[in-house]
Amino acid sequence: MTGALHNIAGNFHVPQPVNEPVRDYCPGSPEAEATLQEIKRIGGTTQSIPLQINGEIIETEQTQDVVSPHDHRRVLGKLSLANEGHVRSAIDAALAARRDWSRTPWWDRLSVFLRAAELVAGKYRDEINAATMLNQSKTFHQAEIDGACELADLLRFNAHYAEQIYANQPRSTQGENNYLDQRGLEGFVLAVTPFNFTNIAGNLPATAAMMGNTVVWKPSEKSAVSTDVVRRIFEEAGVPPGVINTVHGDGRLVTDVALADPNLAGLSFTGSTEVFRSLWKKVAANIDGYRGYPRLVGETGGKNAVVAHVSADPQALITGLTRGAFEFQGQKCSAASRAYIPRSIWRKIAEPLAAQVDSLVVGDVAEHRTFLGSVIDETAFDRVTGAIAKATDSGTHTLVAGGTGDKSVGYFVRPTILQTTDPDAFTLSTEFFGPLLTVFVYEDNDWLQVLELADRTSPYGLTASVYATERSAIAQALDVLRDASGYVAINDKPAGMSIGKQQFAGARASGTNDKIGSPLALQRWVSGRFVKENLSPDTDYRYPYLAD
Ligand code: NAD
Repeated sequence: MTGALHNIAGNFHVPQPVNEPVRDYCPGSPEAEATLQEIKRIGGTTQSIPLQINGEIIETEQTQDVVSPHDHRRVLGKLSLANEGHVRSAIDAALAARRDWSRTPWWDRLSVFLRAAELVAGKYRDEINAATMLNQSKTFHQAEIDGACELADLLRFNAHYAEQIYANQPRSTQGENNYLDQRGLEGFVLAVTPFNFTNIAGNLPATAAMMGNTVVWKPSEKSAVSTDVVRRIFEEAGVPPGVINTVHGDGRLVTDVALADPNLAGLSFTGSTEVFRSLWKKVAANIDGYRGYPRLVGETGGKNAVVAHVSADPQALITGLTRGAFEFQGQKCSAASRAYIPRSIWRKIAEPLAAQVDSLVVGDVAEHRTFLGSVIDETAFDRVTGAIAKATDSGTHTLVAGGTGDKSVGYFVRPTILQTTDPDAFTLSTEFFGPLLTVFVYEDNDWLQVLELADRTSPYGLTASVYATERSAIAQALDVLRDASGYVAINDKPAGMSIGKQQFAGARASGTNDKIGSPLALQRWVSGRFVKENLSPDTDYRYPYLAD
């Protein structure tokens, strides 16, 4: 399509998006059986995961194994690693493709990604879910909502939001036409994506490309088998060569080269706070060399609080804590990782909550009874089990549930609840990104003080949830926690947003808060040019006041 500029006589409307229905995966259901077949196929081979630069598939000599975290002897893929030359070629390819792609009519660009959404939800659904289960250790349900549904939703809703952005035009008055040319950024966009969501990995390069940008995409090496399915889907959907260039490899090497390039127009990052800060510093150090001011978008870590009021429904709270803290092993940036619970409610829920959490099955995600798979790798295993050991040795924490781990076959950590008596405990402020929840029990009358405590304890500002049935308590929580998160759930877990309904991202140390799955996220990838066309130009320089 690149280069084939054409016009249609009429305004184009993208389909009204609806959320992709989430399938149930009951044992024996056609969707479960088909996914198990794919797990067998993908799990039984070691695939080559190449770079793709200017449309060309490149296998490098230097490779890295990509394993299944719940069965780490199973090598799913041999990942080709880029060197500096590959990164430079990817930048050159992006810059060369930019002229045509940025001039391709927007409905053509969006149609490519709408086609990709159909492939995600249809032809490749079983494959993308099976890869997400094997490579990120997600259960059927977690893989379905991530790999298939949320990725399809993001592509469809973003096309709809893009149409809205293009439709938002200035007023024209008699004798004057005004219009807004929403240009892609001048240069290339670097997209760096995390391991934990297949949909985020696909969404970051796609969002920038939809808006007319060309992209160098560095996916996480840990989930490269899943992201390779996305790469192939983009190719089959018709993303032209050079528009999204995939380079795998060492994050430092790739970003050192890309962030030093004068043509860097933007960085779209999702991952840890620490890495985003290091990239921001590199951009700052290179600022004199850029042609413009690169747009920096980063969605990063969280330490999300569940705050319960004495009027909370105890059973709803138990369910919200169990799902919010332990689904996908707590490896969601939005996962509940600290909870503030009044003493009278804690007396009622401590035992049943511990019993429920201790009954959760941890194991192979291909088994239907499994609630938690493993954490992503040995580093994550050591980080989470190390934090549990440090806390239990500290004298200020007691173990309520779980507390053990085993990395002999997969990186399995039992879902763990700690209770602390120290309001400033490190377990209430540090992100561990695993199945670890720390509870602070407060006196029933200290509601306002505990809201303030929750607000100031951690540097992050991503998600939060409030459990209360008294309206005044809900209002107080929304007020005191106003700056504490970019998303707050009332009587629900802090994780689990739905595209088109709840927009996602946070502030403070959690990122630039450019709401993923919203027009705001797309707006960052255009640079407006206003055009005024005078239909009746003046022919005399003198204004009336200059008259004799
Ligand atoms: P990560 O920061 O380790 O890695 C993210 C990406 O950066 C990967 O592609 C990785 O290869 C690359 N990278 C790693 N170290 C680098 C370095 N020194 N220089 C340059 N690039 C580097 O994050 P992760 O472990 O993949 O993901 C988990 C983190 O992401 C958690 O902190 C989580 O809270 C966060 N996250 C946030 C959101 C959000 O929307 N706020 C969503 C998902 C994940």
